[in-house]
Amino acid sequence: MRTSDYVELEERYGAHNYYPLDVVIARGEGVWVYDVDGIRYLDCLSAYSALNQGHVHPRILNALIDQAQKVTLTSRAFRNDQLPLLYQELAEMTGFEMALPMNSGAEAVETALKLARKWAYRVKGVPRHQADIITFGNNFHGRTISIISFSSEPKYRDDFGPFTPGFTSVPYGDSAAVERAITPNTAAISVEPIQGEAGVIVPPEGFLRELRQISNRHNVLLIADEIQTGLGRTGKLFACDHENVRPDMMVIGKALSGGFYPVSAVLADRPLMGLFEPGEHGSTFGGNPLGAAVARAALGVLRDENLAENAARLGEYFIDQLAEISSPHVKEVRGKGLLIGVELKPEAGGARRFCEALKERCILVKETHQHVIRFAPPLVIDQETLDWALPRIREVLLTR
Ligand SMILES: *Cc1c(COP(=O)(O)O)cnc(C)c1O
Repeated sequence: MRTSDYVELEERYGAHNYYPLDVVIARGEGVWVYDVDGIRYLDCLSAYSALNQGHVHPRILNALIDQAQKVTLTSRAFRNDQLPLLYQELAEMTGFEMALPMNSGAEAVETALKLARKWAYRVKGVPRHQADIITFGNNFHGRTISIISFSSEPKYRDDFGPFTPGFTSVPYGDSAAVERAITPNTAAISVEPIQGEAGVIVPPEGFLRELRQISNRHNVLLIADEIQTGLGRTGKLFACDHENVRPDMMVIGKALSGGFYPVSAVLADRPLMGLFEPGEHGSTFGGNPLGAAVARAALGVLRDENLAENAARLGEYFIDQLAEISSPHVKEVRGKGLLIGVELKPEAGGARRFCEALKERCILVKETHQHVIRFAPPLVIDQETLDWALPRIREVLLTR
């Protein structure tokens, strides 16, 4: 079968809730993927940062195979011999005392919101079912009905109401607006340290620190959604680390499994996480031994291969080199570590055609929102590979 055959099958039998580039990937290794015709591409999206460790990392693959031959699912009705070790390793690595494992990122965000509400009722003393959570314009936290209830993106929400109440939205980067939005019923502020899906929006320096101070001042929880920015992507373990901010809850996912398997988690200290009691929350697959073994290996790779440091070093180089391309189409190059957005001017005609042109030159990227090309290669990339990519990117940005 050829590329067009696969595309046709997918279009005929699959829901059209994505608009993929027509490259049919059959194999991946490190930073490279190969399509069904054997053409090699540099993956500069990394499955939205789920592949920080690169495609089919051998150490994670071995952990997956090993564990799959032993036991894959116990349900949390029983215990398994992988989850406790994942808990311990997460605590040692992140400094949070406890974790609650789920599968998708959206599920972990929902978990954090539930815990914040429970904390509001049981600890802060907010009247039951009155808790409010502050969120930001242009946020992306997932696709469940409650999460899209506080989305500001018409495409994500307009046809999907009625919506879940209990959320107040303020402009991203505006800490004064956050402070004004706080009421006695405010349970939490939920923030992405950098807004990835919105187009790699980096907030003003000090914003996270201000949110931390505001939460302290008003007895409100600070929740950081680090599903995309966390686990090395921005050049530190967490993007919050750039401002030395420790949130009350950290939500992680994506690279927690190195792209093998959906694993997500909420991290918090004991006084907060301890509020969940048996039966109040759960997931059949959450915390399963296969996912836990994969996550342990994925975290091990991040640590042992110094991927955050690599992202810091090569991210700086990549951003500098991209910024030097004096293309008439480019409005701004921004980002942290290897989470980089190239924003095009409105008259450039949208980012999509540039992504298509890059695909022709064997670089896979995706537009995010209409005018931003996101560059987020696996963190195992090296400078030589960036130097292979840069002339191609330059050519596309200059000649189109
Ligand atoms: C991807 C993402 C999510 C949702 O994760 P899923 O695994 O797709 O449910 C939530 N928050 C952020 C910041 C993300 O990038």
